[in-house]
Amino acid sequence: MDKTPLFLQPALHEKIWGGTKLRDVFGYDIPSETTGECWGISAHPNGPAVIKNGPLAGRTLAEAWKDHRELFDQYKGDAFPLLTKILDARTDLSVQVHPDDAYAQQHEHVPFGKTECWYVIDCDEGSEIVYGHTAPTKEAFRQAVEEKKWDTLLRRVKVKPGDFFYVPSGTIHAICGGCLILETQQSSDTTYRVYDYDRPGKDGKPRELHIRQSIDCANCPHVDPQLTYHVRQKAQAKFTELLREKLFTVSHWDIRGQSGPIKKNWPFLLISVLDGNGELIIDETKYTLTKGDHLVVPSTVEAISFAGKLDLIVSNPV
Ligand code: ZN
Repeated sequence: MDKTPLFLQPALHEKIWGGTKLRDVFGYDIPSETTGECWGISAHPNGPAVIKNGPLAGRTLAEAWKDHRELFDQYKGDAFPLLTKILDARTDLSVQVHPDDAYAQQHEHVPFGKTECWYVIDCDEGSEIVYGHTAPTKEAFRQAVEEKKWDTLLRRVKVKPGDFFYVPSGTIHAICGGCLILETQQSSDTTYRVYDYDRPGKDGKPRELHIRQSIDCANCPHVDPQLTYHVRQKAQAKFTELLREKLFTVSHWDIRGQSGPIKKNWPFLLISVLDGNGELIIDETKYTLTKGDHLVVPSTVEAISFAGKLDLIVSNPV
């Protein structure tokens, strides 16, 4: 069975709030000076990533999922479950909320809702995000939205590089200007905007809001999830499990020198290279890793090793 890791060509998306860091920091070929999102590991129809190497070169990750499920541990489901993005927020993203699976299936006829999480790669001094709200009940939330009491309703949190935020479906949130973030999420593109700062969209008109759906989906009251990081130091590598939830796990792997073998305890593995240079070693074969690479290690691979200096975000479905 083929063990070639699937290196992916990302899909890049212009956004009114985007900038140029996806080019300036990661070297991606961005379509404009307002490029907001790099969909690095994506089989979503709105931005499919294309395999760059090996026997499946030129095919999309979605096609590999459909035709070669043996590479994904025969994982069930019509759609590849996860999506990894890098976001460059030059200005604030809309204040938004995402549905859970049941609401998304019933109202949008798509397979997944959207639980997401963010690793802050870098940010300007003093950067903030919107995370949660202050309304104690759904009724109080509805009233505050209708009366546009954004200053008192929305909860702002300061961020710094290396911070991690878990954003389960139903969490009111916004990434704000100055943040460069890696997002691991369910493979979904369903966003309900509750507030967009009354600013014009690309065509000069305000972007659509989804007030009813936002009120339906918002968790009231907001409760901060309790996160415990599990850190494992092994020789020259530090493995930090940032999140283990019912759908997926996300870790930060800090590789310094020779590391491994790391034995498979995942169905298949998603890797994004945030910084550094090095090699991924599978059996005797070495694959060069450079900043900005996104890849999937198929389930046919039993163990992986690394060499070099690498800063990785690694995730897998459970
Ligand atoms: Zn979101």
